[in-house]
Amino acid sequence: MSTATISSLLSTTGLPLTSSSFASHLDSLPLNHQTGLTSTRDLYEIPTRKEMGAEGGDAASPAIYMAGNSLGLLPKETKVLINEELDVWGSRAVLGHFSHPQSRPWKSIDETVTPSLASIVGAASSSEVACTSTLTSNLHNLFVTFYQPEKEGKRKKILMEGKAFPSDQYAVQSHLDLHGLSLEEGLIELDPREGEGTLRTEDVLRAIEEQGEEIALVWFSGVQYYSGQVFDLEAITKAGQAKGCIVGFDLAHAVGNVTLKLHDWGVDFAVWCHYKYLNAGPGAVAGLFVHSKWEDQTTRPRLSGWWGHAPSTRFSMPSTFQPIPGAQGYQHSNPPLLSLIPLIASLNTIDLAGGFPALRERSKLLTGYLLALLKSSPRLKEGGFSVITPLGENEGFDGNGDGVEARGAQLSLRFEGVKEGERGGRERMKRVFEGLVRKGVMGDEREPEVIRFAPIPLYTTFEEVRMVAVYLEEVLQEEEDEEEKTRRS
Ligand SMILES: *Cc1c(COP(=O)(O)O)cnc(C)c1O
Repeated sequence: MSTATISSLLSTTGLPLTSSSFASHLDSLPLNHQTGLTSTRDLYEIPTRKEMGAEGGDAASPAIYMAGNSLGLLPKETKVLINEELDVWGSRAVLGHFSHPQSRPWKSIDETVTPSLASIVGAASSSEVACTSTLTSNLHNLFVTFYQPEKEGKRKKILMEGKAFPSDQYAVQSHLDLHGLSLEEGLIELDPREGEGTLRTEDVLRAIEEQGEEIALVWFSGVQYYSGQVFDLEAITKAGQAKGCIVGFDLAHAVGNVTLKLHDWGVDFAVWCHYKYLNAGPGAVAGLFVHSKWEDQTTRPRLSGWWGHAPSTRFSMPSTFQPIPGAQGYQHSNPPLLSLIPLIASLNTIDLAGGFPALRERSKLLTGYLLALLKSSPRLKEGGFSVITPLGENEGFDGNGDGVEARGAQLSLRFEGVKEGERGGRERMKRVFEGLVRKGVMGDEREPEVIRFAPIPLYTTFEEVRMVAVYLEEVLQEEEDEEEKTRRS
């Protein structure tokens, strides 16, 4: 596997960092080392500049899509597969559950994806994962089993990030409610230190060390949605379990983005969605993981449904629930066919790319390149914006140093207000975001003052990454000119 970094490639090629010849050299490198394939971009529909709201230029040429962390692009094969399913539904109707011309009988359609999902999240086998329901519903589902505050004892609390994704905050609060606990009694939230943008692992571990005996559940995200920080899931898991806590993760921004080894790390349970880095489309069916150590658990409560019942007797309709051992025992309903099919198409493109490890290598280079370009911009130093995604302590300018495992594809740029009394950070962020859209770059804005850029190894080119930096520089220059004008008048 290639271990090239941006700095090693700069020195072997002798090309300048900001040159288009360096970008095209990077684009010519093999993605799949077995087949030599350099890109899977052609397998995706890329929206045009016009469709993304760009002004001027060639309206029909592709926009630069940097929001794949929020909603991944459409794999072209999806339309073919969906049409095949519509034909089967039309022609075979109920028989399609059991007999299917493309060997995808609907009753076990999830088996077309669970082996790949198991490999992407680092499960020991398919029986540790289920492809079912939606992220927040899976969270509720597994919390019923894995969040059991002690009635008599003092282990009642949930430890989580202070600025977790809102759905997680609402869901957690509702489980405290369900157990009759106030926020005070049931919640510990951790925030970054004063003046810092991300939470230090040492601070998470200290909280667990100091308060672990009161914590029933440690609940974190894998990749923080706002900052792009990758949490040290292995360290958090080990620390939590050493104190007797259950440890679970929301992997919405981690799955298909960073390397996960849920089984080896001993993670108790996890949930995720498939419409971000796994390109399965808006609201697609989601995923959950339950570690094999819980495979046969019967002592904890669970919310049951017929699709969690052993398939061998499911259709003889017994009145007593007999769970499938492992993660699939937590399924409720038969799988939503039309929201699962795009996931098959997306996973097929990952196979063609040479599997997830090949993509992660490409992702490190793409994001390392973006970071190197941003760092070469004088505006990063002059305070126009800062990158709040962890860069690593001893990291070289190329973005491939120690910090590279502390972030995934996404870089979060925070815009600061300029000069006392003038434009604030939020207003500047909005204006920069809109300026980029006009130039054909679809970033991903998050209130109050962040724009997220996520180059996606399945379909983003190095040349596009280079142009993001060029356009950002232009937009910031226009902003500055505008501010100068207002100041004068
Ligand atoms: C995207 C995201 C969600 C979305 O939840 P849904 O139930 O899929 O709507 C939840 N949590 C996190 C951390 C997310 O990033």
